Amino acid sequence: MNYSYWEKEYLLADIDYLVIGMGLVGLQTAINLKEKEPTAKVVVIDRHAWGLGASTRNAGFACFANVSEILDDLQNDTPENVYGTIKKRYQGLQKLRSKFGDKNIGYLEKGSCEIFTNENKTYLLNGIDSLQGINTILYNELGLDNVFTYKSNNSLPNTLGAIHNNFEGQLNTGKMYNTIYAFAQQLGILLYGGIEVESWKKEDTVEVKTTDDLTIKTSNLIFCTNAFTSKLTEVDIAPCRGQVIVSERVTDLPCEGLHHFDGGYYYWRDIDNRILLGGARNKDVYGETSLEIAQNETIITELKRFMNEQIFGKKVAIDYEWSGIMGMGKNQEKLPIVKEVEPNIYIAVRLGGMGVALSANVAEEVVKVMSNE
Ligand SMILES: Cc1cc2nc3c(=O)[nH]c(=O)nc-3n(C[C@H](O)[C@H](O)[C@H](O)COP(=O)(O)OP(=O)(O)OC[C@H]3O[C@@H](n4cnc5c(N)ncnc54)[C@H](O)[C@@H]3O)c2cc1C
Repeated sequence: MNYSYWEKEYLLADIDYLVIGMGLVGLQTAINLKEKEPTAKVVVIDRHAWGLGASTRNAGFACFANVSEILDDLQNDTPENVYGTIKKRYQGLQKLRSKFGDKNIGYLEKGSCEIFTNENKTYLLNGIDSLQGINTILYNELGLDNVFTYKSNNSLPNTLGAIHNNFEGQLNTGKMYNTIYAFAQQLGILLYGGIEVESWKKEDTVEVKTTDDLTIKTSNLIFCTNAFTSKLTEVDIAPCRGQVIVSERVTDLPCEGLHHFDGGYYYWRDIDNRILLGGARNKDVYGETSLEIAQNETIITELKRFMNEQIFGKKVAIDYEWSGIMGMGKNQEKLPIVKEVEPNIYIAVRLGGMGVALSANVAEEVVKVMSNE
């Protein structure tokens, strides 16, 4: 396709800040830039109309910590990094809520609970043993009293007990994305879907080349491409695909609020009188190390089994199935990467599995890096 004079010389010219990636990080980065510099021309592009990665395909958990994940992470990372990430998630959530409003992002603080069965009884015992210590650290870090509490009763089938976090909530991912998108538009940020970047170079100016051979010049380039960044620049990110299913509408929901099982590998919540269930990535880790948005039948079959046996205790129909792609550290690191690649070129990526919570912080951090603050 040949682009017109108008498209080349006006729509995509004289750009001060070109953000690649219209996910939560790209949109919020653009918002922060425009608020700081209202006269700047800020453009966000994406290969898909409204982004095609994780931000419109996630589960909407407004979560910051669960006990089994903390214990697992402490095996692979330093306590500073593990609790530092939790603090960033918690602060990020507060920013997201205060900037866009609970109603507009569909935030409901119903709490969360991690359930345990005979299959993972050891996790439960370790969790109970560690509760007090973790609560003390979280009180010091976040100022929250008794984040985790143990309850021996739970209505779900086969459950031995559950560890609750009363400070977590759930979001409506669709409402939240619409709200942030509209906020960006109102500020005068230009949002263009359907433009895929193939490569970039820096000489006198920064230039990106798209897959349909368009060259776009910009004074500053910011990659908010999360899992896909390794296609564009060298970076420590491994793609992790996640599968999600949603049940039919029912009148008698078996549970409400956020739920986790098996160290967070399974997660589910209520939405519009349905149950949304995601995860089981541990059933095919190799197959899910992929940048391809596609269904994994092994995992979908396992999620359907889990939905019937562990959540409902009876067979239910599934109305929706999809996948999305997360960006993780190759050695399980959970801290995002926010840095200058070279002058005028920046990355804000690797948001991991709780990236909604981190997104506001990361978008703020990259703008600080750009201003040398
Ligand atoms: C199934 C699933 C469930 C999740 N559940 C939760 C949850 O409940 N709670 C939570 O906190 N987090 C969750 N996450 C993680 C969270 O959604 C992500 O961490 C967060 O959305 C990342 O935002 P982002 O803007 O960095 O990346 P993305 O939303 O992935 O955005 C990156 C964008 O870059 C675009 N892009 C990439 N390459 C190019 C290119 N070459 N040219 C143009 N555009 C390009 C992509 O199309 C994409 O839109 C989940 C993720 C998945 C996949």
